[in-house]
Amino acid sequence: MGNTTELKFIHLAHTQGFCAGVSSAIEIVEIALEKYGTPLYVRHEIVHNTAIIADFKSRGVIFIEDLVDVPDTNTVVFSAHGTAPDVFEEAARRGLHIVDATCPLVTKVHRQAERYSRRDVHTILIGHRGHQELIGTSGYVEDGLRHIIEDESDIDNLTIPEDAEVGVLTQTTLSVTDTSHLIAKLRAKFPNIITGSKEDICYATQNRQDAVVELTKLCDVIVIVGSLASSNSNRLRERAEDQGIPSYIIDSPSEFKFSWLDGRTSLGISSGASVPKFLVDELVRMISVRFPDAVKKQDESIEKGIAFPLPKEIQDYKKQKNQLA
Ligand code: SF4
Repeated sequence: MGNTTELKFIHLAHTQGFCAGVSSAIEIVEIALEKYGTPLYVRHEIVHNTAIIADFKSRGVIFIEDLVDVPDTNTVVFSAHGTAPDVFEEAARRGLHIVDATCPLVTKVHRQAERYSRRDVHTILIGHRGHQELIGTSGYVEDGLRHIIEDESDIDNLTIPEDAEVGVLTQTTLSVTDTSHLIAKLRAKFPNIITGSKEDICYATQNRQDAVVELTKLCDVIVIVGSLASSNSNRLRERAEDQGIPSYIIDSPSEFKFSWLDGRTSLGISSGASVPKFLVDELVRMISVRFPDAVKKQDESIEKGIAFPLPKEIQDYKKQKNQLA
């Protein structure tokens, strides 16, 4: 065993864990399970977290990627990441009952994509190819107007006329810094660009990244709890690493390595927007057993009382249940 005797502080990011979109999506599946029973079909992982998916699977939720795997007329929940219009159309054709758990902040991006396409505006989508959210948003942009970029080299390869009007949309969970660099480069190339400073990066992504940067001022090693498929969790690790602090991402406390603490005195912990609190609590407990004198510190979260409305049928079911209680 290396020198693991020095840890003095465990700093927890003040703002971390579930965002409002994830809380709603999980509640939607919980209520759909109660209301419609099992098997309940969910298209794509409702949120990108292994523990949550495993728990739902153990209770009869079947996660599918293709609607072909849902028997006709069954209920299917669409994930928080958003779903392309052709999938809604296919579900309607098949007589499937859809419960849509798309985060309203992703829906907002879909509506903007439609507005650009109605006006024939070339639309640049900044995001990760293959990520569910980008796949969904792509579906709202007309063929021939859609341009996906992940990095600066993609901008060099864009073939849009430089005097064209160009709209920019981003995945909601990107790195705030990387995105602003890409947007600056796009602005330089396309004078008629329509964009804000950080585009569609959501409040939860921004707040969690800011909180991690604050942690890096206090800590000499950072651990992010989050699944590898979770875009926002990966960005948290990168933000910490960008500040020169060694950073690790773990899906569960069992992946934590005490050797990461060798020679370190101050550990920072945060978690992605789809990570249940009990995983972080378990990690802290585990580390505290090894380092009982390490002082735990956490400031109050800056997010208070943010909640998104649930789909009407889910709200109605909740209301009825409350009346009966
Ligand atoms: S990370 Fe942002 S966009 Fe994604 S579900 Fe949460 S609030 Fe919505």
